Amino acid sequence: MTADPDAATGESRCWCCGRETAEDALVRLGSHPEVGICVNCVHFLRRKARDLQATAMRQRLRGAAESARREVMARGWHDRPVIGPVLRWINQRLPW
Ligand SMILES: [Zn+2]
Repeated sequence: MTADPDAATGESRCWCCGRETAEDALVRLGSHPEVGICVNCVHFLRRKARDLQATAMRQRLRGAAESARREVMARGWHDRPVIGPVLRWINQRLPW
């Protein structure tokens, strides 16, 4: 692929989807200005990045919940008279 617009049409190709797009409608990457991405692909990549961030956050929260669960079990807090029922209630309602 080339960064140079087509001399006849003044259009360039999106490096993501390959569609011919007007040069001024392409977003150029900062460190690699030869790479142009159309607006549709920019939105797609933003959604993809947001999904990846959400997945990473869910994994971190799940890990923290598992760690807290292990600590509670190791210390026997789930069997204590007052806090035990509360901790078991919370555990039943956690999504993991
Ligand atoms: Zn595209």
